[in-house]
Amino acid sequence: MDTSLSPEEQAIADRIEELRVELGDELLILGHHYQRDSIVQHADFLGDSFMLSQKAAESDAKYIVFCGVHFMAESADILTSDEQVVVLPNMRAGCSMADMATLTEVESAWTTLLEEAGLDDPIDRDDPTAVAGSGEKFLVPVTYMNSSADLKDFVGRHGGIVCTSSNAQGVLNWAFERAGKDGAVLFFPDQHLGRNTGNAMGISLDLMPTWTPGIGAMGELKGSRIILWHGFCSVHKRFTPEQIVDFRSRHPEGIVVVHPECPIETVEASDANGSTQYIRNFVGQQASGSSIAIGTEINMVARLADEHPDKHIECLDSEICPCSTMYMIHPAYLMDVLERIVDGEKPNQIQVPPAIQEGSLWALERMLSIKK
Ligand code: SF4
Repeated sequence: MDTSLSPEEQAIADRIEELRVELGDELLILGHHYQRDSIVQHADFLGDSFMLSQKAAESDAKYIVFCGVHFMAESADILTSDEQVVVLPNMRAGCSMADMATLTEVESAWTTLLEEAGLDDPIDRDDPTAVAGSGEKFLVPVTYMNSSADLKDFVGRHGGIVCTSSNAQGVLNWAFERAGKDGAVLFFPDQHLGRNTGNAMGISLDLMPTWTPGIGAMGELKGSRIILWHGFCSVHKRFTPEQIVDFRSRHPEGIVVVHPECPIETVEASDANGSTQYIRNFVGQQASGSSIAIGTEINMVARLADEHPDKHIECLDSEICPCSTMYMIHPAYLMDVLERIVDGEKPNQIQVPPAIQEGSLWALERMLSIKK
């Protein structure tokens, strides 16, 4: 029994566990690192979107309850069989970054970008994913996992690929091989992950213009290597170099680790950056007594602080800010969907339309084949 829970919260937690036992092997609960503790305690697996999509793809559970946000549950539905039911406990749990690139916007930008950058569309050849031959130059679309299924389908059909923050460099290498030495990648929706990954690969910032629908390009498209869609994460955008300076003034020996969705100035001022799984491992590897500031979502930072009482761990932003949509998965919602599953319903089922299943599956399978 968790003494930090109120009697009502404890009753919900107990009921969820009863329902899990009742559903047995038919049920798999996946929990993202940004979920609150009272959800994570019920998850079969806790992980980042890459790890959880692998777990969904490997599972033969009839019901996969995804405690995360909408695009994650969509990816799980694409990667699982038609007989499996993927459930999102709260249908309002979306992602503001994913919403910053709609299919309509991307389709309308695509033709302009091809023309202005002087590149060809990989879809115009027999195998859109073939490695570019001599003299060929393509625009290869890469979408972050944090995007809707119809964008993943667009990417899949145009010879592109999905990436996560765990494997973004490997994915970009894959895409550059297909784009050709004079080709480019269109990276969406998160400009920061694209820019930070390109920067880590030695690509000059001049060769990474930003594209904003309705406004156009900031920078030269011709000769560019990565065209960055304008999107961003409202949580990670909050972390700044000034916060790092402040932390270091209080902890001169302190270490700073941030997520690559943070702005480049913050990533460059930090000691290390990587996916949520990377951050977990990084914190675990630091010596006892270390002081560590973390630039990512507060539920994960607070959990790491609990797991490592021998280290001083704080959120880089003192005005701590949870991801408001991840926070929409409340234990009461989890209990409710499990009750309804036991009653024979398929509550809050996420079903990606058949017309966009094939292309999005190609893009996701390409992603899963890339080593981190
Ligand atoms: S933390 Fe940012 S990118 Fe992740 S789900 Fe929340 S809004 Fe989206």
